[in-house]
Amino acid sequence: MKSFNYEAKAIRVLFGQSTISQVNAEAARAGVARALVLSTSNQSDEASRVAGYLGPVHASTFTGAAMHTPEDVTERALEIARSVRADGIVAVGGSSTIGLGKAIAIRTGLPQIVLPTTYAGSEMTAILGETRNGVKATRSDPRVVPKVVIYDVDLTLGLPVGISASSGLNAIAHAAEALYAREGNPIISLMAEEGIATLSRSLPAIVARPDDLEARSDALYGAWLCGTCLGSVGMALHHKVCHTLGGTFNLPHAETHAIVLPHVLAFNAPSVPEAMQRMARALCAADAIQGLNALCTRLGIARSLHEIGMPEEGIARAAELVVSNAYWNPRLVDRAQAVEIIQRAWHGHTAQ
Ligand code: NAD
Repeated sequence: MKSFNYEAKAIRVLFGQSTISQVNAEAARAGVARALVLSTSNQSDEASRVAGYLGPVHASTFTGAAMHTPEDVTERALEIARSVRADGIVAVGGSSTIGLGKAIAIRTGLPQIVLPTTYAGSEMTAILGETRNGVKATRSDPRVVPKVVIYDVDLTLGLPVGISASSGLNAIAHAAEALYAREGNPIISLMAEEGIATLSRSLPAIVARPDDLEARSDALYGAWLCGTCLGSVGMALHHKVCHTLGGTFNLPHAETHAIVLPHVLAFNAPSVPEAMQRMARALCAADAIQGLNALCTRLGIARSLHEIGMPEEGIARAAELVVSNAYWNPRLVDRAQAVEIIQRAWHGHTAQ
């Protein structure tokens, strides 16, 4: 018998098509009468649509959200929130925009309604990463958990194919590490397996036909499951390597995950045979790593850290950072092994 603890987060989730139209009713339900809408500058059209649906509840819009939640951006958004006496946040976008909403929430206690448009999964977690003076720090705090998440598949139809593929791999990475997490439990493992299976089927269909509604809907459902995994159990070596590389060399978040994942899983595989079996089953493959390699090839994503701008001389420094402040991992990793993993990913070797 295996003992476990399981704690669900109290997040209200709406899932479907045209669910954006329910944002006004959800604001009323959450007690929000003066909402500040957040987006990146790329997604100002989506922000306008949300504002339109909010009607009189829309107090103002801030379209300056940026990757890695820089503190000066949060300060600017806070100024607007205060000047319009906002009593709630409505974030529409990827996990960068959601991160800004969380950064405001932790400083003000304002409730958040979130409409995710990528597969990264921040909407389901209590994790907040912020950048101050160029240094990114991550903390976990229940105050940043959104009150309501509105998944509207329409908002994902325009997500470019390349970002869809890498963002989907980012989601699969959450589920993969959940399958062997120290705090793992049967409920989260079910979600992880279903999340990987759903994404591995839907992502190739999206690459072939980006506006395929069924595939988009499946991918968003898979992303929700994988985000729930990320928000429920601790992550291990893969997330540590990706946070280190992203933070040290300013590499693109989702692509870094997509490139590194097969290499870390290949390293961990001997220590976690059951997790690898479940992953292989989810990928409809005889072997998890081969299945993952095949999926990456079908999706046409970048395969080497070299391609996305990591300097080769950074490998040793990154490996040092990975082992000096290590996350728990099912297999102990020393400096030489960390170098080898990052080196293989840098060259774009096939993981095995
Ligand atoms: P992102 O939010 O940075 O978005 C990337 C770009 O794509 C942005 O310009 C955005 O406006 C655009 N975009 C997003 N959705 C779009 C759509 N549907 N159509 C067209 N353009 C769209 O990317 P991301 O991968 O979602 O987020 C990455 C960031 O989130 C990183 O900083 C990462 O550390 C953080 N993150 C945090 C958590 C957490 O739990 N705190 C989880 C995952 C990721």
